[in-house]
Amino acid sequence: MLRSKLLRVAAAGVLLAVVAGCNDSGASAPTNTGAPAPSPGTSASAGVPVSGAQTPESVSAALAALPADIRARIPQFAPPPPPHKVTLPAGDKAVNLQRIETRKRIAFITIDDGWEKDPMAMKLLQAANVPITLFLEVDAVKVKPSYFTELQSTGAVIEAHTLTHPTMTHLSYEGQKHQICGSADELGKLYGRRPVLFRPPFGAFNDNTLRAVKECGLKASFTWRETTDKGIIRYQDGRRHIAGGDIILMHFRAAFVEDFLAILTQLKKDNLTPALLEDYIP
Ligand SMILES: [Zn+2]
Repeated sequence: MLRSKLLRVAAAGVLLAVVAGCNDSGASAPTNTGAPAPSPGTSASAGVPVSGAQTPESVSAALAALPADIRARIPQFAPPPPPHKVTLPAGDKAVNLQRIETRKRIAFITIDDGWEKDPMAMKLLQAANVPITLFLEVDAVKVKPSYFTELQSTGAVIEAHTLTHPTMTHLSYEGQKHQICGSADELGKLYGRRPVLFRPPFGAFNDNTLRAVKECGLKASFTWRETTDKGIIRYQDGRRHIAGGDIILMHFRAAFVEDFLAILTQLKKDNLTPALLEDYIP
C-alpha cells in the first residue's frame, strides 16, 4: 500500500484560482433519462453523527422525483474503494491542498456557498447518491438551514467557508480568525457537528489564514483543481481530464443540475469514482 502524502500547495502568498469560485451565475437547464444505482453511504470520519446513509428506497424515490431526461444522464459509479489517511504536517499552520495524493481512481466533489436552494438540486444529489462535501457560508445557509439538514441526512458532510465570504487576504489575522472560528462554531450549532475542514472564499489565502485554520481547531484548507460553471468544466493547469485525487469545486447556483451532471459525466469518462474528502483526512 502506498505511503500517502499530501501535495502541498504554496502556503505562502495568495493562491489565485484560475477560475474564481463563488460568484453567482445564472441559467439552468436540465435534460435526459436513466437509472443509477445506489452506492453505499458515505461516512464522515470526524465528530458527531453526520449522516445517515441513504437506503436503496430513498435513492429510488429521489430518482422517481426527477424528470426522465435528467435521470437518464446520471452515471452509475461503483462504491469508492477503502480510503487511506494522508499525513498532515505538524506545526502551527494548517496546510492547503488542491488534491489528495493517492493512486486510487477517485476524486472529490465539493460544493460551495449555499445561496441557491433548488429542490431539483436536492433531488439530484439524493438520486446520484455519491459522496459530497459542502463548504457552506453561514450567511447563505441562515436563510433556510433546513435545506442543508436534509442534504446532511442523506450523506453530505458540511464544512466551513466563513461567515460572510470576505477575501481573506484583505483581513488581519484576527479578522480571519473571526471568520473561520465563527463559521465553524455557527455551523456546529446549526448542524450538530463542528466542521473540521475549511475552504477560503475565492481560493485566496495567506499564512494568516492557515494559522487561523489551525487555531480554530480545523485540520486543513482546500482549494481545487477543477471548477464548473454553466455545465462547463474548467481545469487549473490546461489538462482536459480530471486526475485521481483531484478536488473539484462547484456551487449551489442556478445551473446546478448542468454543473453536477457535467462533473459526474467527466468523472465517469476518466474512470474515477467520487469519494469523501473527510475519509482521507486524519
Ligand atoms: Zn464561496
